[in-house]
Amino acid sequence: MANVSLRNVRKTYPGGFEAIKGIDFEIGDGQFCVLVGPSGCGKSTLLRMVAGLETVTSGEVDIGGRVVNEIEPADRDIAMVFQNYALYPHMSVYNNMAYGLRNRGMPKPEIDTRVREAAQTLELAGMLDRKPRQLSGGQRQRVAMGRAIVRQPKVFLFDEPLSNLDAKLRVAMRVEIRKLQRRLKTTSIYVTHDQLEAMTLADILVVMNGGQVEQIGSPLDIYRKPATTFVASFIGAPPMNLIRLSGDEIRAQFAGDSRSAAETGILGVRPEDLAISSEATADGGITLNLTVEAIERVGAETFVYGTRARAEKAVSATPGELPEGEVIVRIPGQDAPAIGASIRATAPRDKLHLFSADGRNRID
Ligand code: ATP
Repeated sequence: MANVSLRNVRKTYPGGFEAIKGIDFEIGDGQFCVLVGPSGCGKSTLLRMVAGLETVTSGEVDIGGRVVNEIEPADRDIAMVFQNYALYPHMSVYNNMAYGLRNRGMPKPEIDTRVREAAQTLELAGMLDRKPRQLSGGQRQRVAMGRAIVRQPKVFLFDEPLSNLDAKLRVAMRVEIRKLQRRLKTTSIYVTHDQLEAMTLADILVVMNGGQVEQIGSPLDIYRKPATTFVASFIGAPPMNLIRLSGDEIRAQFAGDSRSAAETGILGVRPEDLAISSEATADGGITLNLTVEAIERVGAETFVYGTRARAEKAVSATPGELPEGEVIVRIPGQDAPAIGASIRATAPRDKLHLFSADGRNRID
């Protein structure tokens, strides 16, 4: 069994910067855990502490029931895949994959079996004699994965492994990694700042912000019930619309349910939960009067950017995510209103989220 447990883990870098401010969670055997968050939130630091590449200032990192704080990376039974692949340029694909096993003194026939099996799995069988420079980016990434697989570790650690690939290849490799992990059933921790990658790969998603866990759960639970406005705007693209409401507005909007007790708050509504409508919503949902500012047609759907006619401003939890007062409506197909048109966007009551005024708590 290779559960990974983090118990009140902290990291203060020399110089005093506290990059990880007390993190606790457990990853079950065979689960795929994704750490996601904006640049600088501490996800690489946390991963590197699990790997043993960074010391743990306090707390415990436990792999398979053993506290590994003082154990060398090579003895932790983990294998790491990096974003720059870290392949040896002068070695063939075969030798890149075999290198770590030889270093451990594994018998040659076993090395050969493992390398050929991994090459088969990763569709590299015909490329074992090539050097890394004779491979495409995607193939290099596969070699880096192969090197991790042949070690048959207890835990895979991935540090933004796809970030050097173009968009199409990223998607293809994302699917490959997920299939591979399902087959091998190896506990995995994967770091990314890409929320789509996080949503599609994770069994457990850990959303980080400022060295702390903002929310942890299954991707869909987090998507459906974000715990804070930070999570609401980080998970989902385009981001959730956030609109500051006064106490009176909250009482009117949420009359008859427990949310109406809040004094002030932030209303959240996802762009896909809004529809352009000729009638105001009748079921206690919201109606937003918008002036259309811009249209983005992305093929199967269209994003309509409007500004609210009323005085209140939309607020943004993540600076730059959603300009003040702007509301995004996501509609299927390509038909869109004209720029400058006045439209009405509505959402039913059960699609409305309410957060505390500071955005730190979900009210429901
Ligand atoms: P990115 O997505 O940009 O890689 P990240 O979430 O992985 O970001 P980390 O690399 O873990 O973030 O860094 C977390 C914080 O710790 C950052 O503010 C960073 O500047 C700081 N930090 C990282 N390494 C060191 C170091 N060796 N000394 C001091 N501070 C550091």
